[in-house]
Amino acid sequence: MVEIGDDEFGNRVGKLCFSYYDKLVKTGKPQKGKEWTHFAAILVTKQKDDGDQDLEIVSMATGTKCVGISGRNMNGYVLHDSHAEVLARRAFLRYLYFEICQAARYDSSDVLNYSRLTGTCSLKPNVNFHMFVSHTPCGDASIFPKTPATDNEIGIVIDDDGNNDTSDPKPKRQKLHTTNDQDVEDIQRTGAKCLPTGPQDLHLPGVNYHITKLIRLKPGRGEPTRSLSCSDKIAKCPFSKTALHRAIIERIKDVSNLPPDYRVNTPDLVQSTCVFADGRFTTSLTNVLPCPSGTVIWSAVPETSIEVTVQGKKQGVTKKAGLTDKAACSVCKKKLLDQFHVTRLTINKLKSESLKLENQRTYYDWKTSAVYYQKAKTQLQNAMKDWPPSLS
Ligand SMILES: [Zn+2]
Repeated sequence: MVEIGDDEFGNRVGKLCFSYYDKLVKTGKPQKGKEWTHFAAILVTKQKDDGDQDLEIVSMATGTKCVGISGRNMNGYVLHDSHAEVLARRAFLRYLYFEICQAARYDSSDVLNYSRLTGTCSLKPNVNFHMFVSHTPCGDASIFPKTPATDNEIGIVIDDDGNNDTSDPKPKRQKLHTTNDQDVEDIQRTGAKCLPTGPQDLHLPGVNYHITKLIRLKPGRGEPTRSLSCSDKIAKCPFSKTALHRAIIERIKDVSNLPPDYRVNTPDLVQSTCVFADGRFTTSLTNVLPCPSGTVIWSAVPETSIEVTVQGKKQGVTKKAGLTDKAACSVCKKKLLDQFHVTRLTINKLKSESLKLENQRTYYDWKTSAVYYQKAKTQLQNAMKDWPPSLS
């Protein structure tokens, strides 16, 4: 496990996140001792004049689920991927849209400066963002040597979806020689599957079970998903934390020819020793399952309450409402597109341009028209050769 940076900071972040989580009401949380979930948050630090540093959570989410192919819906109202990291990042986008509007309208954002000349925002000096996760992201970052602390499930293979596969006989032990001169007999396993079109895991006993550095699909029981693993998604977005340097930093270190304002981000990785009460390995019971009741999502935007979703829709909506605005949570594609329009109009009004809302254009149209973003994505896909362009 790579550990760089300030452990004291990691623990300060972990403590703040888990005390926030503990204060949330039970709705959407796992049943104690029977279920587990993953937690992710994005935080901001602001350096004060007296040297102290303010630390605040700006978005958070829990979740371990992903809808199968038949549950996907093209109207943008349903969340396809409800893994905690992905939802926390989307809730963070919502926070950023709000802050952009504050900066552009009133020059009153705590974190952004707005330039009327260029119509662009920049981060204020001494402001930094951090991502915190209660677990290693599924996929490549979840494949690493077993240590005595994590090897409490001998003879039981548990994938990311919590399946206890007791049919796999205890394998003949092989050893892996690690960079810090330790011999390792077995590796952690991820339920995230290799792409059907690419190289496949060997599924051999011990250290040869998986092949590392591959792009993977999210784990799931039954029907296959079309969502990429969190290791792959975090490697793509500007916020990264993982114990496995390989998955988050090493795989993208050679990305080059990026468009203006894009750069390869090499974040500091810090491990917190705080324990997540509802985490998968917190209980000693072996039959705990991933929380089926859904996810909890929140952004630091005024008048925003905690949202709970089940199968990608707001909890409590009827099946019929599944295809309407009523079922949509604030971070589904449709609602984020609405926020994007509000933000775009706020900025363009200040530039005295007469632009009307172009409702006919889809989320996909807007995304593909972001030329620099698309170029950066192409460069990343070129560096990670087996990244499938059609998957999200
Ligand atoms: Zn994940």
